[in-house]
Amino acid sequence: MSFDSLGLSAELIKAVLKKGYSKPTAIQLQSIPVILKGLDIMGRAQTGTGKTAGFTLPLLHLLSKHSPPSRSHRSPRALILTPTRELAAQVAMSVDTYGKYLSLKSTTVFGGVNINPQISKLRSGVDILVATPGRLLDHANQKTVDLSKVEILVLDEADRMLDMGFIHDVKKIINLLPKKRQNLLFSATFSKDIKRLADNLLNSPIMIEVASNNLEAEQIEQLIYPVDRIRKSDLLTHLINSKKWPQVLVFTRTKHGANRLAGHLEKNGITSAAIHGNKSQSARTLALSRFKDNSIRVLVATDIAARGLDIDQLPHVVNFELPNVAEDYVHRIGRTGRAGREGEAVSLVCIDELKLLKDIEILIKRELPKTVIPGYEPDPSIKAEPIMNGRNGRNARGGKKPFSGNARNHYSTRRESSRPNASMYRGRFNSAGKSGRGK
Ligand code: AMP
Repeated sequence: MSFDSLGLSAELIKAVLKKGYSKPTAIQLQSIPVILKGLDIMGRAQTGTGKTAGFTLPLLHLLSKHSPPSRSHRSPRALILTPTRELAAQVAMSVDTYGKYLSLKSTTVFGGVNINPQISKLRSGVDILVATPGRLLDHANQKTVDLSKVEILVLDEADRMLDMGFIHDVKKIINLLPKKRQNLLFSATFSKDIKRLADNLLNSPIMIEVASNNLEAEQIEQLIYPVDRIRKSDLLTHLINSKKWPQVLVFTRTKHGANRLAGHLEKNGITSAAIHGNKSQSARTLALSRFKDNSIRVLVATDIAARGLDIDQLPHVVNFELPNVAEDYVHRIGRTGRAGREGEAVSLVCIDELKLLKDIEILIKRELPKTVIPGYEPDPSIKAEPIMNGRNGRNARGGKKPFSGNARNHYSTRRESSRPNASMYRGRFNSAGKSGRGK
């Protein structure tokens, strides 16, 4: 099926073709006609599925059908909330790309940068506002934005929004919107918390789901390299050099770990930069653009910083450390093999992480192939240690702020009780693993 049959205006189809898309993705096929009818949506989809165009195209169509009252002093008629600055910037770029033949105005507001240029943009009149919750509330409190004319609300990556502790901000924002509006909620997971949020927010929503095996894109080749914790940096250097990987996105569990690894790689002649929440917005943007234009070979990121990053044709993703939450593994590897392209996702797994690996294998419903790299064989005498730091993921109680003292305590307690021992480790990798160079 082509874009022509979905009911989008000629200007939007022209923009889509200019972008080089020949046919809609599964999520676009499902979401576009429903949104055009003015209905609410609860969409289960993650980045990599084409969901941004899935909501942006019909949103632009609907807004362009009714011209705004006056060109200046117009307030947003569509509000797109995203959990991170990077995702906000990317969604805004999609709005610009798809809306290039329309006369709608859009702007982005997020924290970490000067608020004044944002105020000027808002003052000059905006149809579509892309925002992160905290900075948007700052604007609302200062009365530099008027949300009373919003007709369409999009909550993008709602699960991550809750994970990052934005639920109260989101609720405050929703209270500032007109009661009558169209709501589009997208989330990679439908946890109890998300369902509760959806119950309060959405009006007879149409459920849209891309097949659950899309959770783990088939074209992504996944491989586990068992290795001792202290040898991971050396193994990664070895892999990048011996396999001549040109562009690698590497995930670490902590900000400190990201800095340390980027430093180690640099010392070994591999150009790299770290991207995480402690970096200024300008440093993050610079690192990302240097990575995209191949000025640096490796981008080391924490989960939150990397969430939603859209990097075309990313060939390799490495989990330097497994994430604390199995679903984050799926998000991470979703950075490669995007929109039909092939990719390779490699995880360096030490004995401490066997429980995390098991959780991932349960989630994706299959055992991942393991390959021991000669010279990097795990030492069977090393005992597992609890993983003490890192982000506490979504849990049944949900919504804890990352890096909070509470989260850490909660996590370390959980790890203690499920701590693997050395014999499990030997048995695990010996039975499933094979020795060899891998791909
Ligand atoms: P998203 O899931 O919105 O982050 O999109 C993932 C990637 O797919 C982005 O690089 C988009 O530019 C690309 N994309 C979106 N829609 C299509 C399509 N219909 N055909 C090919 N690529 C697409």
